Amino acid sequence: MQVLLADEYGFCFGVERAVQMVEDALAEGGTVRTLGPLIHNSQEIGRLEAHGVATIDAPIEASADMTEVIRAHGVTPEVQRELEARAAKVVDATCPFVTKVQKLAERAAEQGRDVVVIGNPDHPEMIGVKGYAPHNAHVVRDAGEVAALPPLHAPLVVSQTTIKLSTFLEAAEAVRAKADAEPQIVNTICSATRDRQDAARALAGQVEAFYIIGGRHSSNSIKLLSVCQEQCAKSFLIETPQEINPADVAGVERVGVTAGASTPNWLIKEVVERLRAIGDMRQQAEPIAV
Ligand code: SF4
Repeated sequence: MQVLLADEYGFCFGVERAVQMVEDALAEGGTVRTLGPLIHNSQEIGRLEAHGVATIDAPIEASADMTEVIRAHGVTPEVQRELEARAAKVVDATCPFVTKVQKLAERAAEQGRDVVVIGNPDHPEMIGVKGYAPHNAHVVRDAGEVAALPPLHAPLVVSQTTIKLSTFLEAAEAVRAKADAEPQIVNTICSATRDRQDAARALAGQVEAFYIIGGRHSSNSIKLLSVCQEQCAKSFLIETPQEINPADVAGVERVGVTAGASTPNWLIKEVVERLRAIGDMRQQAEPIAV
């Protein structure tokens, strides 16, 4: 049985960087804490916990003997200041793509302009960005929600890094109708999610079974599953190699593997090894033709 990996899979740039920053902080010694779980993958969180990295839920829990790590989604400037006042050290692992959105919003607000951010207002990334333009930013999900906004002054339009391009373009167009001047439209969508979906789609038509490794509650892993299911009926979302049922790949010659943006490489390697072992066992069990 051939095990084929998609061209793009697993940790995105921002998540890989955040995990590395935690590792570096651990290497320096002392107590390391993250504000909220570092990533949406319980196996990787478990691995970090085994090295002593725990999570705090609010800046008030930080103390002078801790190194505090800010997650890739970023936080408001207020939260960052509070962490800096309480913790021994703050490591800012905000993804540079998110920092760009924060800085654009901050600059436009300083110029007295409205800021329209297309995204989910409840998502931590959006809460952080809004904090950079607290009196000027409107976080809206789509064009329909733009229609409910008041008239907008010289607006900047940016996006949550993980939304669909069509949603952003439609909403940006709706902003134009509300603005008193030509809006500044900056597409700040990160390509990591789309790249993983495109690579999974390209492979799904060539395999008879597909394993997507990722958290059951990770939205980008669930989306990867639905992309694979469009072309490969035997597509499975798994969190660990133990969830692979050999019966599901009985008779399968080519199996595909991909992973969500929060899935660590060590876990992907374990899944690939288990699939190869299942293939080897099957070969040994096959009767020898005479
Ligand atoms: S998905 Fe993109 S923006 Fe988000 S952490 Fe990964 S690289 Fe950064």
